Amino acid sequence: MEKIYCFSCGKIIDSYDVISKELDFDLKGEIYHYQGKEAVCPVCGATVFVNDILKYNKEQAYNAVRMANDIISQKDILSIPEKYNVGKRNISKYLGWGEITFSRYCSGYIPTKHNSDILKEVLDNPEYLKEKIKKYLQENPDDENARKDLQKINFSGLFNAIVNMNWDDETDKWIATSTDIPGLELEADSFDMLTDQVEKTVPELLKRNKLPNTAMIQYHTNKKQMIYA
Ligand SMILES: [Zn+2]
Repeated sequence: MEKIYCFSCGKIIDSYDVISKELDFDLKGEIYHYQGKEAVCPVCGATVFVNDILKYNKEQAYNAVRMANDIISQKDILSIPEKYNVGKRNISKYLGWGEITFSRYCSGYIPTKHNSDILKEVLDNPEYLKEKIKKYLQENPDDENARKDLQKINFSGLFNAIVNMNWDDETDKWIATSTDIPGLELEADSFDMLTDQVEKTVPELLKRNKLPNTAMIQYHTNKKQMIYA
């Protein structure tokens, strides 16, 4: 535990009590009320300053500002680069913002209402970000990374699953299995028949396993083919 000094007792204390308290946060003259915490000295009851408590209160205060102004949460902001697998600086770039603007939002800085609405749209609607990147590419046609990001968004949000399609010498059959789709175990006489079976069976298994209703299947196979010139 961090060393805490009680100014009232005039000494370092090794524990503190926490009380719940309604607090005010003044942001540019606008007052926001929020439920915060206060650390008090167990000996004399005076308020003591504890970094963890200050940090907690700051988060609660910022949440109150977000709530009151219908501003996107930090958690939702952080889920944007994760959802699309696009870097923070690139997101800023595509939205036409300063290079580190989006990174600052990720670290807890509260966006303006205008930018918050843009971020909500980005999170909810992949087409919106795609349009932004396309527009950016019109002005920066040589930016290969932007092209790659555009591709990534096309496939983001899809459930990616690997299906192993292997020839089994012992049974003389093609076998399909997948750890991503529980219950998938199929066999067939030919590779093409097995692919057909996968296509027919996977929708049912997606439902049964409560998985997303669209899957991007990637086949891993030991299929070999002899080709003659
Ligand atoms: Zn004290």
